[in-house]
Amino acid sequence: MAVMKSITIVGGGLAGLTLGIGLRQRGVPAALWEAGHYPRHRVCGEFISGRGQETLARLGLRDLLKRAGAVGADTAAFFSETKSTPTRALPSSALCLSRFTLDAALAKNFSELGGELSEGRRFAENFGEGIVRATGRRGQAKENGTRWFGLKAHASNVPLTADLEMHISPRGYVGLCRVNGGRVNVCGLFHRRAGESVGPQNRRELLRGPTGSPLHQRLASAEFDENSFCAVAGLSLRPYRAVAHVDCCIGDAITMIPPVTGNGMSIAFESAELAIEPLVAWSRGEISWAETQPRIARHCDAAFARRLTWAKWLQRFVLTPSLQNVLVRFAAHSDWFWRMAFEKTR
Ligand SMILES: Cc1cc2nc3c(=O)[nH]c(=O)nc-3n(C[C@H](O)[C@H](O)[C@H](O)COP(=O)(O)OP(=O)(O)OC[C@H]3O[C@@H](n4cnc5c(N)ncnc54)[C@H](O)[C@@H]3O)c2cc1C
Repeated sequence: MAVMKSITIVGGGLAGLTLGIGLRQRGVPAALWEAGHYPRHRVCGEFISGRGQETLARLGLRDLLKRAGAVGADTAAFFSETKSTPTRALPSSALCLSRFTLDAALAKNFSELGGELSEGRRFAENFGEGIVRATGRRGQAKENGTRWFGLKAHASNVPLTADLEMHISPRGYVGLCRVNGGRVNVCGLFHRRAGESVGPQNRRELLRGPTGSPLHQRLASAEFDENSFCAVAGLSLRPYRAVAHVDCCIGDAITMIPPVTGNGMSIAFESAELAIEPLVAWSRGEISWAETQPRIARHCDAAFARRLTWAKWLQRFVLTPSLQNVLVRFAAHSDWFWRMAFEKTR
């Protein structure tokens, strides 16, 4: 049998690690470069929802997540500063696990399968044949004049009325869900006002929400884990198509679905799975790189185009202050609207 060619994966987030695991399960030599180290906290709602769970099951990783302490989520409730929906059943269950635990568990699995993992190593060469870009979202300082940034921290002593609580306000939104270790992940997306500096104190205030809001009440007795605080700026909320990229991209390196959907991790898992078979064929010498890269891009666009379009509109609705109460009222009274918004964005 001919020697299989090695694949280099740049970026050891969820997309890169899942691809690495899938390739190693099929005997393909794989080397992964990760600029950071494991374990580490990341800005993420830590709410895994959508078809990516089926990917995890097919790759035998769902059990790994369960063993790592993933918590099931079956209900959700939405809040504006003055209105709320009743607690509703999610049309399909989600899993919640801290990225601190999740990324480290996948990295360990990749190494155990014989993958070559280099931590603390930033790839600065040209992308080309046999190299996959899984480097995450592309930074963008401003989008239509607005600067977006994300914050997250784990807290204990937070009583929740639903497994997922989404709190929306004119500044953005904050999601709360239970994760492993009995903690609650508090994660938000916000826009920065012109001239505003967002220091550590403002970050805590933003995550706690405006005084008197349901979010502020929920976090009244919260004890934050200082080590889990993290922030990310320069978020781009504009959708891109995979075929528009020259490199072979997976996960957020293709595009970042609006975080409000809680579907970004799912896309990372799904896109990694879609890339496996073309990359195996390339590794075996059955197809050229010129065929491999566009084949993966087409698979990804076919899988994600529809949900990205719906997500763009949902996000616009959620982030427009004058529409926030309307949205919560709709979600409170219309089961059809609630299910449709959920299903179309995953
Ligand atoms: C505020 C917010 C809330 C979110 N909430 C949710 C949620 O609840 N549910 C959900 O499903 N999704 C959520 N997401 C989205 C989710 O976090 C991402 O979609 C997911 O992390 C994408 O995985 P990835 O592997 O593509 O990228 P990442 O997880 O970002 O990983 C990319 C990796 O590449 C490494 N890297 C980058 N450049 C290089 C280089 N040159 N060399 C080596 N390594 C490099 C980085 O260090 C990083 O580890 C949220 C996002 C934000 C911003």
